[in-house]
Amino acid sequence: MLTLFTAMFDGPLNESILKRAQAAGRLDAHIHDIRTYASDKHHTCDDAPFGGGAGMLMKIAPLAAAIEDISSADAAPAHVVFLTPDGTTLTQAIAQELSTKPRLILICGHYEGIDERIRQHYVHQELSIGDYVLTGGELAAMVVIDAVTRLLDGVISADSLAEESHSDSLLEYPHYTRPAVWNDAAVPDVLRSGNHAAIALWRRQQRLTRTYERRPDMLATAQLDKHDRAFLRGLGWHDPLWCEQPPRRSKPVRTPDA
Ligand code: SAM
Repeated sequence: MLTLFTAMFDGPLNESILKRAQAAGRLDAHIHDIRTYASDKHHTCDDAPFGGGAGMLMKIAPLAAAIEDISSADAAPAHVVFLTPDGTTLTQAIAQELSTKPRLILICGHYEGIDERIRQHYVHQELSIGDYVLTGGELAAMVVIDAVTRLLDGVISADSLAEESHSDSLLEYPHYTRPAVWNDAAVPDVLRSGNHAAIALWRRQQRLTRTYERRPDMLATAQLDKHDRAFLRGLGWHDPLWCEQPPRRSKPVRTPDA
């Protein structure tokens, strides 16, 4: 990560799965302070934008020096990502693709952002974490690191990842744990039945229902079999592959003199 605010990463990288992934050698995270690459005695990293206007911009020289230094510090090619609200919105599919890259350099902007020429010369991919504006790219970079690290081999069991929301264009089914009844709210009977086939069917149908109700757009890319499609049609889903059969016309009756 390239940032002007290194301490922002302390908490997330030292808790939970990100901490365990580092301890297990699956994630090797380095926080680089862009300020150390500024050549003046005040380590200035911002400047006024050409053309005027509100706010400051991150200076080109310290950022360029940082990217070049870090890129050349390792033989593995670095994929350079700039976090920016005008980038492509991060999805699970993008996180999956990033998890296959040997090395990522995440650039965190601040102020009004970074000089456009950095984007043109060094950046391979521009990612947004949503349609809103944050103060800096640090929180966005943490979101990327977290989403990608979960997908690295050995960090989370393959079973846990298999039916997670967005892993296959369906949302996840609801979960319950003990107690079986809490404030009159009971766990669905099927989950306590011990019938694994019935549980699997219930979970599949819950995934379909949730996705249909909350994110029907996702169904367009989901892998659906004929049972899924029939179930969804029962919920009111318009199945693009389903043609209403025209009413069957009875055969004309042939009379002897016809
Ligand atoms: N002036 C910029 C604009 O209108 O697009 C916003 C600058 S924002 C205050 C400062 C920095 O925060 C950005 O350069 C970027 O690195 C980061 N940032 C803000 N919102 C973001 C988002 N939704 N996704 C990713 N990064 C974001």
